[in-house]
Amino acid sequence: MPYISVAVSLPVMKSYTYKVPDHLQEFCSPGVRVLVPFGKRRVTGYILAGQESCEGFTAKKILDVLDDHPLFPESEILFFKWISDYYIYPLGDVIKAALPSGFDRHDVSFVSVTQKGRARLDAEGLTPGEKQVLDYILPKESCSLKQLKKNCQNTTINALIRRMEKEDLIWVSSVLKKDGAKIKKEKFITPGDEPTTVIRMSKKREKILALVKEKQEISLTGLKVIIPTAPALIKPLALAGYIKIIQRQVFRDPLGEPVEPDTPPKLTFEQEAAVKQVESKFNLGFCSYLLSGITGSGKTEVYMRLVWDVIEKGKQAIVLVPEISLISQTERRFRARFGDKTAVIHSSLSQGERLDQWRKIALKKVSIVIGTRSSIFAPFENIGIIIVDEEHDTSYKQETGLRYNARDLAVVRGKMNACPVILGSATPSVQSYQNVVMKRFEELKLETRINQHPLPGITLVDLKKYKDARGYDRIITPQLSKEIRHCLDKGDQALIFLNRRGFATSPLCMDCGKSLSCKYCDVTMTLHKGLNVYQCHFCGYNRSVNTKCPSCNSSKIKPLGFGTEKVESMMKAMFPDARLTRMDQDTTSRKGTTIKILKSIRNRNVDIIVGTQMLAKGHDFPSITLVGVICADLSLSLPDFRAGERTFQLLAQVAGRAGRGQSRGKVIMQTYNPEHFIIEAAKKQDFMEFFQNEVPYRKALMYPPFSRMIQLKISGSDFTKVKDYAVLVAQTLKALLEKTGKQKAMVQILGPIEASIQKISSRFRWQILVKSPSSVLVNSLVKAMMDHPKITSKSGIRLVVDVDPYSLM
Ligand code: ADP
Ligand code: ZN
Ligand code: ZN
Repeated sequence: MPYISVAVSLPVMKSYTYKVPDHLQEFCSPGVRVLVPFGKRRVTGYILAGQESCEGFTAKKILDVLDDHPLFPESEILFFKWISDYYIYPLGDVIKAALPSGFDRHDVSFVSVTQKGRARLDAEGLTPGEKQVLDYILPKESCSLKQLKKNCQNTTINALIRRMEKEDLIWVSSVLKKDGAKIKKEKFITPGDEPTTVIRMSKKREKILALVKEKQEISLTGLKVIIPTAPALIKPLALAGYIKIIQRQVFRDPLGEPVEPDTPPKLTFEQEAAVKQVESKFNLGFCSYLLSGITGSGKTEVYMRLVWDVIEKGKQAIVLVPEISLISQTERRFRARFGDKTAVIHSSLSQGERLDQWRKIALKKVSIVIGTRSSIFAPFENIGIIIVDEEHDTSYKQETGLRYNARDLAVVRGKMNACPVILGSATPSVQSYQNVVMKRFEELKLETRINQHPLPGITLVDLKKYKDARGYDRIITPQLSKEIRHCLDKGDQALIFLNRRGFATSPLCMDCGKSLSCKYCDVTMTLHKGLNVYQCHFCGYNRSVNTKCPSCNSSKIKPLGFGTEKVESMMKAMFPDARLTRMDQDTTSRKGTTIKILKSIRNRNVDIIVGTQMLAKGHDFPSITLVGVICADLSLSLPDFRAGERTFQLLAQVAGRAGRGQSRGKVIMQTYNPEHFIIEAAKKQDFMEFFQNEVPYRKALMYPPFSRMIQLKISGSDFTKVKDYAVLVAQTLKALLEKTGKQKAMVQILGPIEASIQKISSRFRWQILVKSPSSVLVNSLVKAMMDHPKITSKSGIRLVVDVDPYSLM
């Protein structure tokens, strides 16, 4: 078509029409990027649709087409538009945020010939174009895509490459073979069809044939264990057609163990019921479910069964998992079940590896994507199910740029694709459970643990009793230390949890009484003994341990407050015979260190593990029988209406780390507020008790899920300018609200107020909160404000719109 509508990646809310010169028309389709003139600039844009005509003005011509195939399917554009509208974020930037970065580095793609490609070359039946491509690459093993295109003078080379890639004749990757070491290939042996020639059979050859026949498929590594000379023996057998040798990608878990294929177990009665309930409505299209079930009740198995059904039907599945330091147990199990039908997207992939995964999805080489929040944007066209595991997890909320919530977007995309959406958790979010109460979600329940393992027993210890105790007892109470001793004597492992890192967390000047705060932020610095510095956890600024008080120049700074580093040193002193390790952001910042720590726990080379919430999520340590929570209330007093919810979830999660193996676990939870309803509910591990106590308070204060909120964050380095701008924004909002008449009573505008952390990285922070039971009202009010002629962008001042904010600090 002669015209296209384009979303440019600039802060503009609408799309623009451009003219396509004749010679570029065949390359333009929705999802392809183009280079366009915009004012005096040239910018990247995404084609949204073709257009027959352009009325009323002369459209500018596009300058170039940047892709040889669409980066996302046309069907996803509606989803992007919804996001742009709801999160009040420019459409072009939404698309940019949804795609993995690095597409621009075109020429970094490498091509090589696959096994199938080699076989075809021998068997002939290739088109001259295909043959030319293979002949060019083969002698070099691999070459860059750029080289290939230059040397194969063929006008349809892009389409040809894409087709050959789809047919598995060539392999295109953004990861150079050298550093693509993570993709491990292995030889597998399967029975041949009919031998073409008869060869002499030795004892060993016969044994190989028998083994292959029995197993139908065996890895060369596995065969080597039985017959060490197998590698030399299989070649003639394969040549004669007795067996086939195939190359296959093998998966490894983060600890380096191969992920063995598994066989689905027979579902329990409860699991069966849950699966049936979803399946019975497959044909009805969209429906959202909340799968609530304590840890170990078999939720993952339910997910896998449903995904299986969906891919059998030729559809695709998106499975979202929380961001954790390494690949989770869930990812491992999906790989075991679905092998190379899955693409995996998580934070420890390099940019190239991420692009490769994306490519697999776009080329439909996989039908399942399992990964962290950005996987919700996977370019699938025919989605059959979307699953969000641990739906309460805060890592589904993106906190920079496009501030979306992948859990919420899962429901939106499910609706657009007319497919079921399953949110699962042992500790559902208040919002999702309220959706069950309101009958917007159907509840699926798993109430018993698979192997009837009882949940760990939780004992509360009142820290108030030890306020004036001497020595370590104030932090590690006698009850806790007794249990640790007991655990060590049994030869088990103990996990000690404290969600605060560092040695001393509130250093105080003994002369002037001020706490040592960061030069650039309005926060107290933390002493890190191992690093010999005071550190700011917000901006990273360091002061030497010998620093003097910035206010009075005194050198008497007392290291008050404690974090994981201090607890570790106490443990060392109290249990000199125990082997200790610490797992927090400080000990895992270097590449590979997380794996090392996890391995040492798994191999039982440590007895006591001290850690932050990093340890609470997703890992499975069968020999931990004791969990000690140093201070259960740390997050309870944060100025955030979700503080209670977070605390409950975190405590339930940590407690769930105990007793995952054969013996029953024990949890000692130290707290200053043993009678607080959150702590009580956590002790009983009773989600309903927590929910029923939390809801009246949210309702009374009109907090989500009983209202919708948009937070406006205004920041900048000049205090007065920031404040003035915040006042202007609030005034504009209030004036606009005045004009709405009847709806006025439905919306609250709170602020402007200074944020509770008033300064971060030298930027002063102000906030405004817009609240209403109606999400449409808050949305339209904020949009109207943004479009208001008085609200122009001011240099040095940033205005961020956070829809459904998670962190109000
Ligand atoms: P959840 O995801 O709810 O924590 P999992 O799915 O991890 O629970 O299940 C806990 C354990 O029980 C896993 O080791 C899993 O392999 C096993 N399991 C799940 N379903 C079954 C079943 N139907 N029969 C036997 N074992 C099962
Ligand atoms: Zn001082
Ligand atoms: Zn700082």
